[in-house]
Amino acid sequence: MTDHHDVVVVGGGQAGLAIGYLLAREGRQVTILEAAEAPASAWRTRWDSLRLFTPVRYDSLPGRPFPGHPDTYPGRDDVVAYLTDYAHDFELPVELDSTVRAVRRDDRGYLVELDDRTYEADHVVVATGPFQVPRVPSVAERLDPDVVQFHSSAYRTPGDVPAGRVLVVGGGNTGFQIAEELSRTHAVHLSIGARQTPLPQRIAGRDLFRYLEATGLMGKTTSSRIGRRMQARETLIGSSPRAARRRHGIRLRGRTVDISGTEVTFRDGARLRPSTVIWATGFGLDHSWIDAPVFDANGQLVHERGVTAAPGLYFLGLPWQHTRGSALLGWVKDDAEYLARQISAMPPTQAPMSEHAAPSLRNSR
Ligand SMILES: Cc1cc2nc3c(=O)[nH]c(=O)nc-3n(C[C@H](O)[C@H](O)[C@H](O)COP(=O)(O)OP(=O)(O)OC[C@H]3O[C@@H](n4cnc5c(N)ncnc54)[C@H](O)[C@@H]3O)c2cc1C
Repeated sequence: MTDHHDVVVVGGGQAGLAIGYLLAREGRQVTILEAAEAPASAWRTRWDSLRLFTPVRYDSLPGRPFPGHPDTYPGRDDVVAYLTDYAHDFELPVELDSTVRAVRRDDRGYLVELDDRTYEADHVVVATGPFQVPRVPSVAERLDPDVVQFHSSAYRTPGDVPAGRVLVVGGGNTGFQIAEELSRTHAVHLSIGARQTPLPQRIAGRDLFRYLEATGLMGKTTSSRIGRRMQARETLIGSSPRAARRRHGIRLRGRTVDISGTEVTFRDGARLRPSTVIWATGFGLDHSWIDAPVFDANGQLVHERGVTAAPGLYFLGLPWQHTRGSALLGWVKDDAEYLARQISAMPPTQAPMSEHAAPSLRNSR
């Protein structure tokens, strides 16, 4: 059976919930399809001790302040609770357990295909996250099975990591934070491929993001020279190689270039036999399930602030979709409002909301 929908949002994380809220408030018939059994699933699977690098004052979605003192840093479970309450209290029409397998154009708009049903939609907003597919370098295949290895997305707590020497590969925020936490219980080596610019979390008692806002840097877009420069140079917030070495006793290593059996080789030729390797080597995007002419010859998505050349097909929450904040809690609303305005400019073509509205937080099974 094919149900007609005005707007289908794919993904019930902060991006999907934010645009869902804005569109529902305007009376649009919106349906949010979420693969997991609960909203905010990406946050639920992050490590136990995770603390945000953005303080409460910069963690709010539209319409609801993030609870707590503005200068404190929420933990993972605080974010899960905030997003879950957001979906629940605003009665957002989230259909859970609803993995979208394909989005295709048809004569009247888009077909959104799930395992057990297909929706027809005038507008589709893809909000499936900036960090989707764990990336692990191919040398990982050469690691002896006696050495435990996993991607950072599977890391939860130091107690789960076997005793012995740990090698964390990846010098971004995730690599540093996991290495620092493990340094209390394990001998930790951190392999850094490309150095990122370290920035302190707080400067003269004030949070870093207050300076980035005050200087206008958070508003710099991908079309500006400074924005493009910022995009090309990742930043390390609240950690630094020096502090990792001195304060946490972490042994810094160069890029991991080879693995043979149980031995890892770094760029300077040094070698290490770790008991565990944690790959903090980032994530990729997967839009292979979208069948629409919105990708270039290299498979890269082509868009302008989330608006594609395919009328009615939008993206939200991509890294640097428009600014540094596009994939952050406190700034995703800027792009969400922009897209909601694009959608609002097009009147709904079908029946009013009451005829089709999905019950909020419905489990599809
Ligand atoms: C370790 C880490 C720390 C971070 N710390 C901060 C921080 O301190 N402050 C900050 O502002 N940001 C932080 N971020 C960045 C960002 O806020 C998060 O990545 C956030 O989860 C992005 O929200 P999202 O809604 O765009 O995507 P996600 O949270 O990834 O949500 C996407 C949703 O889409 C669903 N989905 C995916 N595919 C499908 C499909 N085919 N069908 C249906 N549903 C689907 C997923 O189940 C998921 O629930 C951090 C990110 C990481 C990885």
